[in-house]
This record gives sequence, structure tokens and C-alpha cells, in this order.
Amino acid sequence: MNSRTAYGQDRLARDLEVAVDRGEILAHYQPQIDTESGQVVAVEALCRWRHPEFGSIAPAVFIPIAEAMGSIHTIGRFMIEDGCRLAAEWERAGLPVEVAVNVSATQLAPGFFGHLGEFHAREGIGPGRLTIEITESQMITDVDAAVRDLAKVRALGVGISVDDFGSGHSTVEQVINLPVTELKIDQAIVREESEAGQRAMNAIVDLVHRRGLRVVAEGVETEQQFERVRLLHCDRVQGYLIAPPLPRLEVEEFIARRNAA
Ligand code: C2E
Ligand code: CA
Ligand code: CA
Ligand code: CA
Repeated sequence: MNSRTAYGQDRLARDLEVAVDRGEILAHYQPQIDTESGQVVAVEALCRWRHPEFGSIAPAVFIPIAEAMGSIHTIGRFMIEDGCRLAAEWERAGLPVEVAVNVSATQLAPGFFGHLGEFHAREGIGPGRLTIEITESQMITDVDAAVRDLAKVRALGVGISVDDFGSGHSTVEQVINLPVTELKIDQAIVREESEAGQRAMNAIVDLVHRRGLRVVAEGVETEQQFERVRLLHCDRVQGYLIAPPLPRLEVEEFIARRNAA
């Protein structure tokens, strides 16, 4: 079903303009575990919209509208601030769990870097505690601009993850030459069972590790998939097998339980 037509895209676009101010946008957090220790080492912030009339609307529906209409900047600022606050709180509490926030290419306007730098510094966040995720395809559209922009983010001590790697057309060589810290392997690749696919993945992970970058497997739903990505030496695993995206209190409970074990 295309929910965009069901609600009316114009209506959603208008409602999005005020959604942040009205407190309808919030973040859920999905745990990432260290493949070897099984401990939660990071969470990915995923935004949620509780529409007063239509209920919960998926980001796959409203993020593209927000990008087209410009409200992505307001939503993006909210998510960065929320992620920075959480990273800072956890750091102060001595909890060794990092926070990742999704960023669209359209957000990478000049104002973005100022805001990120200001907020990151204000919260006093240590290096590597915050990572931003940008999709592979958005990074390689304009490589020169990407290198310049990503270098500014790295200079702040913020990590950069290549999201959805393997879902587009970029090669591993293209992305590892960007100033990034992590590669996030797309669900489609995690599901790949053929031997040729496994061999290709093995080569990719090797190359990425030799560059000193981290590899995260996402969308892991089954024990078999977990075993496969473990054999590939993916450093971290995220997916419904571990936990779905959870509200703040629930993710903290999950971390406390899991990391005590
Ligand atoms: P993404 O960044 O690739 O996020 C992963 C998506 O996969 C999330 O969907 C997550 O809930 C879902 N997922 C997690 N584990 C599993 C699993 O085991 N199996 C399956 N099938 N799916 C899993 P979600 O939350 O609906 O978000 C969809 C997309 O919307 C995200 O894809 C991201 O591109 C975008 N998005 C979400 N939050 C934000 C945000 O704050 N800012 C921006 N710019 N984009 C966002
Ligand atoms: Ca992501
Ligand atoms: Ca992804
Ligand atoms: Ca995706």
C-alpha cells in the first residue's frame, strides 16, 4: 500500500512543518552488539512520527517528503540534538555505548556543520561517541564535496558510517577512500547465501579492515545470518534478532540486562 496517497502527500508535508514543535517527532534506538562479546556497544537513532490523526507514520514515508519540502532540516536538528544529549549522558554515566544518527545528503548544508559542531562541543562529547550515518549513494554523488564535508565532521571527533553499503552501485574502493570510519552492510547482502556472494563479502570486509575501518552488519534476523556475518568477521551486528528499535527507557533496560550477562 502506498500510504502517501492514502493520507495525501500535501497534508503530510504541511503537518511535518509543525511536527517537531508539537513534540510528535521522537527517536527510537536500535542496539548494536559486539559480535564476539555480545555486549551492546552502540545504538542507532531512528526517527518516529506520531501523527495526531493517522498514528505512527514510517520514516520511509515521511523522510522523503521532509527532504523535498525542507522540513528535514528541523527534523535533522532535533535528531542530532537528541543523539548528542544521549551520547553525553551515557558518557557521563560511564556507559560504554555509542550513538549513531542518520543524516540525509540534503541536510549537509553549510548550517549543518555549525550546528553539529556547536552542539557536540556544548555537550562535551568525547571522540567516537557520536557517529553519523550517510547512505553510500548520497556520499558518492559528488565525491569532492563529500570529502570536504566529511572531513569537517571527522575534525569534530564524530565518526562517519557508510549506510546501506551494497544496496547501490558504489564499489568498496570508492567508499574507503572517503574520510569514513565505518561501513554498514545492507540487509540485502546479509541475506545473500550463495558461495560467490560470501567470497565477495569476505574480500570486502578484509579490505575495509585493512583500512582500519569498522564493519557493521544490519538487518540480521536469524541465527544463520548471525553466524554468516560472524564468520565474515563483521565487528558489530544489528537487527531484529538482537532487538528492534526501542524507546529510550526500554533500550536502557535492554542494555543493562544484556551487558550484565
Ligand atoms: P536505515 O538507516 O537503513 O535504518 C534501518 C532500518 O531497518 C530501520 O527502519 C530499522 O527499523 C529497520 N530494521 C532494523 N532491523 C531490522 C531487521 O532485522 N530486519 C528488517 N527487515 N528491518 C530492520 P526504519 O526505522 O523504518 O527507517 C527506515 C529508513 O528511514 C532508515 O533506513 C533511514 O534511511 C531513514 N531514517 C530513519 N530515521 C532517520 C533520521 O532521523 N534521519 C534521516 N535522514 N533518515 C532517517
Ligand atoms: Ca542507518
Ligand atoms: Ca541501513
Ligand atoms: Ca536503508
